[in-house]
Amino acid sequence: MEIKVLEKDDKNMRLLIRGVDTPFVNALRRNVLAEVPCMAIDEVVIIENSSVLHDEIIAHRLGLIPLKTDLDGYNLPEECPCQSEFGCNLCRVTLTLDQEAEEGTITVYSGELISENPNIVPLSDKIPIIKLTKGQKLKLEAYARLGKGKKHAKWQPASTSAYKYLPQVKIDAARCDACGKCVEICPRKVLEKTEGKIEVRDLLACTLCQDCTDVCPKEPPAIDIGWEKNAFIFSLESTGALPPERIMIEAVKILDKELEEFAKQFEVEKLEKS
Ligand code: SF4
Ligand code: SF4
Ligand SMILES: [Zn+2]
Repeated sequence: MEIKVLEKDDKNMRLLIRGVDTPFVNALRRNVLAEVPCMAIDEVVIIENSSVLHDEIIAHRLGLIPLKTDLDGYNLPEECPCQSEFGCNLCRVTLTLDQEAEEGTITVYSGELISENPNIVPLSDKIPIIKLTKGQKLKLEAYARLGKGKKHAKWQPASTSAYKYLPQVKIDAARCDACGKCVEICPRKVLEKTEGKIEVRDLLACTLCQDCTDVCPKEPPAIDIGWEKNAFIFSLESTGALPPERIMIEAVKILDKELEEFAKQFEVEKLEKS
């Protein structure tokens, strides 16, 4: 397998992966969304709520606030030695909220949640939770835990995890008269006309839509769109809970573990049959 990082910043990553097949890349894509853990609020104790919203709605809103995650500092509750339904310092982080509208109407934002661990805080301070009018109060304790996207979408560390085939664009220079129709129609500006010939400007932007071949007046078309076998462009967008490279590394580690378990079970079945 060959991996090349095409783009990377603190939230997004685009990779070119060669030498693997579709089931492998798809397993990686699914692991990113369903198996790599991140932190989310999982339980809320409402101490006082005189707002117009029911406790359950507030708890649901809190659960959907993305939190920064420290994967090395915390255990998944099911793997924590405490094995307690309340959790311990190794599998649970407490965040508190205590707001009251003393004068006029106020909006309570995610930034007003106070975490016992400064590393596990909302990714944005500006997510509105509730509006309180004069005299209304909201006081609560929220417990965040590590969890997996396969149980609830609030535990997905990535908002995008997708792959596409690596495009291949072939132009038959002998038959192409550089009419430029393919350049005009391309929605992704993949092609350009330079010095009387058509050239590929941005191959990775191609979505394989085939509009260029459809519009080509030559029969058969002088442009051919295909894709490279076993080469993929993988795009990952983190919610910000974890850096994108960490999400990918964890997804690969989990896949490795799953394959080991599968191989072990397969061996056991073979022994049982023989
Ligand atoms: S539409 Fe066909 S003939 Fe015209 S420039 Fe494109 S490839 Fe060449
Ligand atoms: S297949 Fe679509 S995106 Fe790709 S070059 Fe042709 S028109 Fe552009
Ligand atoms: Zn614990």
